[in-house]
Amino acid sequence: MTTTPLRLGISRCLLGDEVRFDGGHKRDSFLTDVFGRYVEWVPVCPEVEAGLGTPREAMRLVGDPQNPRLVTIKSGTDHTRALETLTTNRIAQLMELDLSGYVFKKGSPSCGIERVRLYNEHGIPNRNGVGLFARAFMEEFPLIPVEEEGRLCEPTLRENFIERVFCYRRWQDLVQSGVTRRALVQFHTIHKYLLLAHSPQQYELLGRLVGQAERHRPKEFAHRYGELFMKALAVKATVRKHVNVLQHILGYFKERLGAHEKAELLGVIGDYHQELTPLVVPLTLIKHYVKIFDVGYIHDQIYLNPHPKELMLRNHV
Ligand code: SF4
Repeated sequence: MTTTPLRLGISRCLLGDEVRFDGGHKRDSFLTDVFGRYVEWVPVCPEVEAGLGTPREAMRLVGDPQNPRLVTIKSGTDHTRALETLTTNRIAQLMELDLSGYVFKKGSPSCGIERVRLYNEHGIPNRNGVGLFARAFMEEFPLIPVEEEGRLCEPTLRENFIERVFCYRRWQDLVQSGVTRRALVQFHTIHKYLLLAHSPQQYELLGRLVGQAERHRPKEFAHRYGELFMKALAVKATVRKHVNVLQHILGYFKERLGAHEKAELLGVIGDYHQELTPLVVPLTLIKHYVKIFDVGYIHDQIYLNPHPKELMLRNHV
């Protein structure tokens, strides 16, 4: 686990602040009460910070998907310029804060990261818009994990997002302490099984890249590695890929297990494969044997403990 505090941006209404157009909020109790214990939130309400006030007239995106306007629904007032000015200034401030992630409010014409309603000149909506502030944030910080609160209700997406946040923090720590070849090999080594659970292809690619580290300039190399590393983790881990990783790990100590213990462990992995039990079940037994047999290489794998166990994220995937 990283020792640096996690600092994440968040759409301010998700913390329970009454900043929405109707004077209400959208407090999300998982974010405030559960994940919030591990996070220092940086709340941003682009519309309030742009001076639009609360309550305010409801707005929507209109026009060109690549260059939409933010316009109020009843009076047709165009607030695009105000939002853009705020966005430029706020993003410059956020650059100084070393964020490790961002949780946006879904569907908002300012904060939504995808599928925001965008209206054409006939007033017909399409779900192909992106909130103005969210779009600028993602363009400026393409590696920072972002997610919407709505998608975080889905256990696999929730686990994936929080895992990426912790991984990105570790990557930032490494970059800030200076990426030497040795440190990078070490970083890559402890993330191997996590990468394999997400994308066997990217795992291979990153392995080859690390093998060629000496041929590249350290700064460019680190940049390329960081990009591929975060891209790999964004690929959804599946039951089949987790089973593959569990079997790899089992290979490290199966010779040391008695017939009964081996059958039990294979049975537990099989149950998980058939989705009869969550991932935490085979992992708990595997961690038990890793400890007993003192398998250092596996013990150090981030895959075994990618986020605090108190979050219980793997009890639901
Ligand atoms: S969605 Fe964004 S702009 Fe709208 S109230 Fe929440 S933080 Fe403010």
